[in-house]
Amino acid sequence: MLILVTNDDGINAPGIKALGRSLARVGRVAVVAPEKERSAIGHGITMHKPLRATEVPWEGPVEMALAVNGTPADCVKLALDALLDEQPSLVVSGINLGANLGTDVLYSGTVSGALEGCINGRPSLAVSLAGEGEVDFSFAADFTSRLAGVIIKRGLPAGTLLNLNIPCLPPGEIKGLAITRLGRRRYCNTITRRLDPRGRAYYWLAGEVEDLDQEPDTDIGALGQGRISITPLQLDLTNYSYQQELAAYLPFLWPGQGNR
Ligand code: MN
Repeated sequence: MLILVTNDDGINAPGIKALGRSLARVGRVAVVAPEKERSAIGHGITMHKPLRATEVPWEGPVEMALAVNGTPADCVKLALDALLDEQPSLVVSGINLGANLGTDVLYSGTVSGALEGCINGRPSLAVSLAGEGEVDFSFAADFTSRLAGVIIKRGLPAGTLLNLNIPCLPPGEIKGLAITRLGRRRYCNTITRRLDPRGRAYYWLAGEVEDLDQEPDTDIGALGQGRISITPLQLDLTNYSYQQELAAYLPFLWPGQGNR
């Protein structure tokens, strides 16, 4: 049984090392990850230059450890279509340094690594640790491997992946688990405008996060309470409940077209 591991912090990040070590106790591990950090790359893929997968040294038991000059989605595509001899039972992306909550999932390279696994019909899991700086990934990695064991055994529905966020607390202070929905977050004062030495404006994306949802059934709320958040995500973004109301516009858009 094979587990494919990727991330967006790059193959040398401590989060993926800890994850690889823990998952090796669940199954055989193949690491295919970006050669450098690609955080916030979303679901970007590389179409206009060749991709290369280069073997890198890896501490601990691993089937392969390959650094790719592409994005997390590239890594998973490449692994599934070209690099692996067998299809993995699970794709795990992470452990990201920093939470991926609410609308973050749309920007996140970590989540996109798992999304790409899901698109290809593999049970997939994205994992983030809600800390910054020098953190200890060992509890998050061990919890992830426990969840990985369950998913491998029980599977996930088609088109569904899990987004896991773990509080950066000592294990004894974690208040349990919550199955959550995506909360809403927004970033304010996101763009700083400065002048370069030649007097021309440049812009820097930064800003502070503003969490609009603190309800305990959201991922943001659960983490705020010191709980591990597991959000089931789905590929299908269709708003089914709005389809019928939207259909009322059809006669205006295309004369002769009925309301269907
Ligand atoms: Mn990242």
